[in-house]
Amino acid sequence: MRAEMVRNQIEARGISNQMVIEAMKSVPRHFFVPEKHKARSYHDCPLPIGYNQTISQPYIVAYMTEKLDLNKRDKVLEIGTGSGYQAAILAEIVDSVYTIEIVSALAKVSAYKLKELGYQNIRCKDGDGYNGWIEHAPFDAIIVTAAPSKIPQPLLDQLAEGGKLIVPVGPKGSSQYLKIITKENNKIKTRNLLAVRFVPFTREFDQ
Ligand code: SAH
Repeated sequence: MRAEMVRNQIEARGISNQMVIEAMKSVPRHFFVPEKHKARSYHDCPLPIGYNQTISQPYIVAYMTEKLDLNKRDKVLEIGTGSGYQAAILAEIVDSVYTIEIVSALAKVSAYKLKELGYQNIRCKDGDGYNGWIEHAPFDAIIVTAAPSKIPQPLLDQLAEGGKLIVPVGPKGSSQYLKIITKENNKIKTRNLLAVRFVPFTREFDQ
């Protein structure tokens, strides 16, 4: 089912980065999907993971990963660990992954699952990702998997020179745009990619 997912949903829609394709072929997505929805693990859609959150559609995971233009030596920050699936995909490709999740229960379960699968290059943190992870900055790439209404300034600050940040930006439920931000000569350039629908980026004080 996974091989078919990669063929029909990922390659057929134009994803061509071999590192991304190999990662999507090897990470067991069903391991990150709650029991109740396991049968749909390789379907072309996001799935509930509890706490009003979702594991993103496989194509979106592949698309965002490809847009980051990753190299093996990169250090990547993810905001919104959720199920842990995107972190696993990143960890197949790059040297080190730092990931932050604001819902404690999800942070615990995903950290446990990533450890079970043997990933030693992922560091998980339970907390608000708004302020990034300054101790490990700068990051060659940053991926935000929940939608803020405005890009958090600390994430822009923690992006390395030549780095890329991908983030869905917009109000809850509608008119969000996936944006790719590059930092060159300390200048920030933003480009809109596509219309998307992500769960909202929350803050500690919203909880
Ligand atoms: N990358 C995830 C997608 C999870 S959905 C996966 O592969 O499954 C987005 C996640 O972002 C949710 O779990 C949500 O709780 C989390 N989130 C929202 N706001 C956040 C914040 N300020 N800091 C950290 N995580 C946040």
